Amino acid sequence: MSTLLVINASVLVTMDDHRREITGGGLFIRDSFIEQVGLTSDLPEQADDILDLTGYILLPGLINTHHHFYQTLTRVVPDAQDANLFNWLKTLYPIWARLRPEDIRISTKTALAELALSGCTTASDHLYLFPNGSRLDDEILAGREVGLRLHASRGSMSLGQSKGGLPPDSVVEDEDYILKDSQRLIETYHDPNPGAMTQVVLAPCSPFSVTGDLMRQSAVLAREYGVCLHTHLAETEDEEVFCQEKFGSRPVAYMDVLNWVGSDVWFAHSVHVNQDEMRLYAQTGCGVAHCPTSNMRLASGIAPILDMLNAGVKVGLGVDGSASNDGSHLLEEARQAMMVARLRAALGGASFSDEEAPPLMTARQALEIATRGSAAVLGRADIGSLEPGKCADFFAVNLKRLAYAGALHDPVAALVFCAPVGADYTVVGGGFVVKEGQLVTVNLPRLVEEHNRAASRLLEKV
Ligand SMILES: [Zn+2]
Repeated sequence: MSTLLVINASVLVTMDDHRREITGGGLFIRDSFIEQVGLTSDLPEQADDILDLTGYILLPGLINTHHHFYQTLTRVVPDAQDANLFNWLKTLYPIWARLRPEDIRISTKTALAELALSGCTTASDHLYLFPNGSRLDDEILAGREVGLRLHASRGSMSLGQSKGGLPPDSVVEDEDYILKDSQRLIETYHDPNPGAMTQVVLAPCSPFSVTGDLMRQSAVLAREYGVCLHTHLAETEDEEVFCQEKFGSRPVAYMDVLNWVGSDVWFAHSVHVNQDEMRLYAQTGCGVAHCPTSNMRLASGIAPILDMLNAGVKVGLGVDGSASNDGSHLLEEARQAMMVARLRAALGGASFSDEEAPPLMTARQALEIATRGSAAVLGRADIGSLEPGKCADFFAVNLKRLAYAGALHDPVAALVFCAPVGADYTVVGGGFVVKEGQLVTVNLPRLVEEHNRAASRLLEKV
């Protein structure tokens, strides 16, 4: 039994059902869970460890609902810098086909390090290629060294070019093997209990890279074990055309036919969805991983996030893979979500001088998407807010810094409106991952060196 007392935060943002923000707040943590939340004066005075956050803002850890860690090795690849999704994929698939198990391990640590330093405490990753003996195990085991909660998605591609799919045949797998490996991974690593550090998700890559049969069978397997389902959906107009031509329906209708709707399903992107499709998401409980930077980077479009929230859709935040972002800064992503929602409101044709101007996404809404929203999308009731009984996952930022000068009348909004900063403390289950702005679980300079070596090898001309 160990205890941690966190005291004197300038503002503690609970994200509880009343969205309480407590001035001079703190937490009392026993083992890896929160026992008390409130004013510092109401908390116990003694603990095994005490963290004084005078001058800091304290928030629930941010939760990333969509990423491809391995892509940190292929940031800013020249031929993929200015391409749309399908051309971007065609450029990168042959490079990714050279990935080795050690590349998966290195890139996992790099992406998680970057996330942790931006206030993230739980991340979902979508790994869908396994060349040269790579396995999801490589990611899960490497992730444990960093110390963030990980929802590892067993992705897959089975529809190669010779069968009318987009990826080259060299990076697709046999469907029987995919299902067998999925079952092995669930049985080996999935923890359904509160406080879980590792969960497994089944995640065929996208409608244009797997067969409908694999989607159906993955759903049956996932429901047999009670694990979640995830895929990319309605990301671009190209995908809509592909689905119309190949399946005779829009992407969301195709998912409905495959039995891929429900509270155990979440989709990355959902940029191109109409009102009926949003209603279907809300009625069935499907979640959305909103990835604003990636959508802008690949010119995919602007997801109708405020409409989704109004319709009652669960929305979380994702940085997406580092070849389409090209960073893993989750606090920055919250800022992008707020900004691009405002751009969408403007493009909707409404005049802002109008008295009936469209509502704008607020900074607090953006933070809510990144915390409670993401937790709901991942199906986790034990994270996403700072409340008794929840996991002790939080991050804290020193407010006395250049970026916030002149903004301290509203530190919560400053976190999103002002230039994105790094976390000074990131704590997962009561354990420090970032302390005084430094990652404490990984030797960062050595990791960066290894990572750059691996990236150069991947990009060498064959
Ligand atoms: Zn993605």
